[in-house]
Amino acid sequence: MPLLQNRVALVTGAGSGIGQGVALRFAQEGARLALFDIRQASLDETADKLKETGADFECFSGDVSLTEDVARFFDGAVKRFGRIDICVNNAGIGNPPLPLVQMTDEGFDRTIAVNLRGVFLCMRAAGRQMIAQGGGGRIISVSSQAGKSGFAMLAPYCATKAGVILMTRAMAKEVGPMGITVNCVCPGTIDTPLLRGTLDPLLAATGQTLEEWALKNGPPIPLGRIGYPVDVAKLITFLASDEADYMTGQAINISGGQEMH
Ligand code: NAP
Repeated sequence: MPLLQNRVALVTGAGSGIGQGVALRFAQEGARLALFDIRQASLDETADKLKETGADFECFSGDVSLTEDVARFFDGAVKRFGRIDICVNNAGIGNPPLPLVQMTDEGFDRTIAVNLRGVFLCMRAAGRQMIAQGGGGRIISVSSQAGKSGFAMLAPYCATKAGVILMTRAMAKEVGPMGITVNCVCPGTIDTPLLRGTLDPLLAATGQTLEEWALKNGPPIPLGRIGYPVDVAKLITFLASDEADYMTGQAINISGGQEMH
């Protein structure tokens, strides 16, 4: 029996990288999907891949940092599918890589708006719907190893990802009695357009592949390779399934051992 048969799952940032990986994995496991992303073109790409699986899904475009766009997404999903069983808060951006002393107000504010306010808005909307409908639910957010260790040039990003971990723990204590679990995942170096967007100029200049660069310059990876969206999607699928029904308030590393606490 597929792990998520007929569960209704919302995924933000589903047009690319980890979010697209989650959408495809959830579809394999029988979920019905409401997908959200800021660009229609990237949603169309995910939609083309999902059509091959025969999955039941609908796409919504908008910005997770805007209350009205998030409300439109959740209202549309409930109208289409009748309920929400799983919410994956994955949409996120990197900050312009700069030392903190050179960071602009705008760079800081946008990172907070998307990565922290965006996750807050979706956690709130999911929690309200799950409480109203009854029967529990699963809220899973994508934090980062950067939310556990400070990374140079990424101060605002690190702050948002640490914030996601603490919002997860706080909400888990509030909604546990209603059967809603709230967890987050902390990926390490994952090969996605987000990471490549940051590193491509460097890779072009040095002639290294992403993996060569990460193994030489990043935190050591005991498992000896970088990660891929499917690695993160497998963990999120587990957290969304009945297999994880006694876990809440956790921030789980998925990094080949790059981060261990
Ligand atoms: P990605 O490939 O860029 O995918 C993120 C998706 O979210 C993109 O389609 C992006 O659109 C979209 N998005 C950005 N801002 C949005 C907004 N305001 N509203 C709605 N959608 C928005 O990145 P990814 O690497 O898969 O990242 C997914 C999550 O994993 C992020 O939260 C990231 O911080 C986290 N993460 C990634 C890594 C890694 O190594 N890749 C490691 C740790 C954590 P655009 O393409 O237009 O920006």
